[in-house]
Amino acid sequence: MTRNDQLFNRAKQIIPGGVNSPVRAFRAVGGTPPFIARAQGAHMWDADEKRYIDYIGSWGPMILGHGHADVLAAVRAACEDGLSFGAPTEREVELAETIRTLYPSIDMVRLVSSGTEAGMSAIRLARGATGRNKLIKFEGCYHGHADSLLVKAGSGLATFGNPTSAGVPADVVQHTLVLEYNNQAQLEEAFALYGDDIAGLIMEPIAGNMNFVRATVDFTRACQDLCRQYGALLIYDEVMTGCRVALGGAQSLYAQQIPGFAPDLTVLGKVIGGGMPLAAFGGKRAVMEKLAPLGPVYQAGTLSGNPVATACGLATLAAIQAPGFHAKLGDMTRRLMDGLTQAAHDHGLPFCADSEGGLFGFFLLPELPQNYTQVMKTDGKRFNQLFHGLLERGVYIAPALYEAGFVSAAHTEADIAATVAAAREVFAQMAD
Ligand SMILES: *Cc1c(COP(=O)(O)O)cnc(C)c1O
Repeated sequence: MTRNDQLFNRAKQIIPGGVNSPVRAFRAVGGTPPFIARAQGAHMWDADEKRYIDYIGSWGPMILGHGHADVLAAVRAACEDGLSFGAPTEREVELAETIRTLYPSIDMVRLVSSGTEAGMSAIRLARGATGRNKLIKFEGCYHGHADSLLVKAGSGLATFGNPTSAGVPADVVQHTLVLEYNNQAQLEEAFALYGDDIAGLIMEPIAGNMNFVRATVDFTRACQDLCRQYGALLIYDEVMTGCRVALGGAQSLYAQQIPGFAPDLTVLGKVIGGGMPLAAFGGKRAVMEKLAPLGPVYQAGTLSGNPVATACGLATLAAIQAPGFHAKLGDMTRRLMDGLTQAAHDHGLPFCADSEGGLFGFFLLPELPQNYTQVMKTDGKRFNQLFHGLLERGVYIAPALYEAGFVSAAHTEADIAATVAAAREVFAQMAD
């Protein structure tokens, strides 16, 4: 038995499924998840001293790679000054100001500790600010595990969602309308039916929780126009895309193509914390001033704006503002996607890929999917073969076919070449 196996057995005795977040358990792909002992740059080592090239990057935060010297120095210094005070600190202000500079749609920011908390709070704020209850979300987008979001589409547009988790009362999701991503006709129909009751529309602008699916420019424009027409708030969940696909997030990319484009509220997390528990939501001043203690919408947190987390976030954001950072990251990521696509096609396998900045997705499909139903047409058995083939060869991609991948600034051309070479071997086996 390997040390990974021993640890997993021990973990399963005391932690449900042996993990503290479900996808880590490898249930979709089978097998024992490596227990990570340490990481540096683009690499992680497990409890058996096996090395992996890391394309998970803690599911997004580690955009600089692991153990970045400036980030570690900032965290160490912050620790010396105190771990938590429950009172305001200068770094919170500095981080909020940095976020506002990077995101012109944001006038004011509230810092919290997780993306779930930020998304949940943004939705409460949208409801409180509009005095309406209904929420639109899209199938395949993830916005954290708040009760009202654990919902799948009802049997038709006239019906609201059904809970996807035990423990969520049907009453709680009755105000959540789940629609198909990139389906403009359905969106128009939903607003025509319920527009005056809709508080907000929440979306991932590039959906990284169904691997990698871009909202089309037309669909994005329709989301904004319909929200404005009916007085609903457009909530952009950029927890994954924020500071990763571009410094100013996906909204900065859509704003280049849609003049005047700006979401009403933005949800951030992952990269802005640089690997520490930190997330945020922000938006227009008039809306944000509805939050306690100024307004009637309650929201609070003992560890919100934690001094060590803000130090980590600030050091990370300082580093990624270096000139050309995202262009270089985007090049490296594209090179990886091109290499994998070429290798798969050389073996006659259906394969397509897309990426933006340091976020990527690939599919064992002939063409890029536009929505969740199309993503899930991927052959799960083949994906598992690819996943385990890569893992065995020291390449760690997300253990589920509906998860995106992450490249960091620490990934080198040698890492990309080694990954493509490993994939080539696995594709050869798969083609047999
Ligand atoms: C990860 C993620 C969340 C949830 O963030 P947590 O910090 O895991 O709670 C919300 N929205 C999106 C788009 C995410 O990728």
